[in-house]
Amino acid sequence: MNQIAKSRPLRAAVVGGGIGGLAAANSLRFRGIDVTVFEQAERLGEVGAGVFVYPNSLRQLERMGFRDALANVGARVGPGSQYYRMDGTVVGSILTTDSSGWNGMYGMHRADLLNALAAALPPDAIRTGHRCTGFAQRDDAARLSFANGEVFEADVVIAADGIHSTLQKHVVDPQPPEYSGSRAYRGLISRDKLPQWRDEAHQVWMGDGKHFMVFPVRGGQLLNYVGFVPTKSETVESWSAAGDRDELAASFAGWDPRVTELLGKVESCFWWGLYDRKPLPTWTSGRLVLLGDAAHPMLPHLGQGANQAMEDGVALARFLEGRGSGDVVRLLQQYEAFRRVRTDMIQAEARQNGLRYDSKYASLEQRDREIASSAAFRKSLYDYDVDNAVVAGLRENQVPAA
Ligand SMILES: Cc1cc2nc3c(=O)[nH]c(=O)nc-3n(C[C@H](O)[C@H](O)[C@H](O)COP(=O)(O)OP(=O)(O)OC[C@H]3O[C@@H](n4cnc5c(N)ncnc54)[C@H](O)[C@@H]3O)c2cc1C
Repeated sequence: MNQIAKSRPLRAAVVGGGIGGLAAANSLRFRGIDVTVFEQAERLGEVGAGVFVYPNSLRQLERMGFRDALANVGARVGPGSQYYRMDGTVVGSILTTDSSGWNGMYGMHRADLLNALAAALPPDAIRTGHRCTGFAQRDDAARLSFANGEVFEADVVIAADGIHSTLQKHVVDPQPPEYSGSRAYRGLISRDKLPQWRDEAHQVWMGDGKHFMVFPVRGGQLLNYVGFVPTKSETVESWSAAGDRDELAASFAGWDPRVTELLGKVESCFWWGLYDRKPLPTWTSGRLVLLGDAAHPMLPHLGQGANQAMEDGVALARFLEGRGSGDVVRLLQQYEAFRRVRTDMIQAEARQNGLRYDSKYASLEQRDREIASSAAFRKSLYDYDVDNAVVAGLRENQVPAA
């Protein structure tokens, strides 16, 4: 063991100031690890619409002290959450609690979540305007270089740089994301414009190769809507490409009047191509590890992309807690082996759930039965406590060997 390295806190560099990167930075600091985040954008979090924070990640964030910060900007999602066929026929309830009955579920504007995560870090721990362009490593340290000419050395580098990760090529041969054949039109609409709307409800309408969903964000002042529509050509994977609201409305013409009424009030929307990727052969190379979408981009049909990225950070911080620089390479491999069992399963299940939502089933009755009985799977997702799982695995020596 390298005694000099062990006597000082580990120094971590996170590339990417999205939800995965900022949550990981908080988790690492919570476990006593010195961390600096590098984000290419000049400012954090201006783009995006709604994301879900589910019980599996909310319990971790609350343990780190985010209870009030998230309650202030989140919109609690609970009663009235339902799945419907496209004509409005109820298919079943959407689970909004874990098995204990805890309603730990928020709809959040992505910017609100990012702001809360950023506010908990010291200002000098986040360096915006830093686009990472290079990575190199020796036995005892890793080195990042940036488009602005700066360089930074760290014991461990966490690539949280999203689905088009720049650093991924230092870990695996280039692996382009796979287009799902669908695009998502999304946007926000003021709650006041729809007086009859159910507060607190996550509602999903399913039919005909498409689906539509709505949930509240920002304390319920805004409704986040997303319409998933098949396309023949690939749609760019962008969060800021303007969509055509008439095209969106035409895609859902004749659906439940609640959907068409909402779409009649949309003024502008964005679109976003849906991509994921088959599991990568590995996430680690020496002192470099991929996290969040850089490691395991998921289709959004379980709403777990951001939540799994947040779980990644909690697990990684536990593996690295109290350890020295000389342990990093082995610990990253153990972390990957531990995490990918869960993320591989959720990636695959998100694809399958998209088929249910888009009614790509020979029998709609069979689809409806699967949707109605999906609460058991959701419970297992939401009950999972990643921090306890790592601690128990390490204690019982059951963490997969590197
Ligand atoms: C702009 C944006 C808006 C989004 N909006 C939504 C939304 O409305 N709803 C939803 O469900 N999901 C949204 N997502 C996706 C969702 O946040 C992610 O799928 C999930 O949170 C996993 O996050 P991540 O941190 O792994 O990756 P991302 O959220 O993609 O974050 C990656 C970060 O890395 C930065 N980055 C990339 N390359 C470099 C580089 N070379 N050097 C430095 N920094 C770099 C990016 O600018 C970005 O901030 C959005 C993602 C982005 C980037």
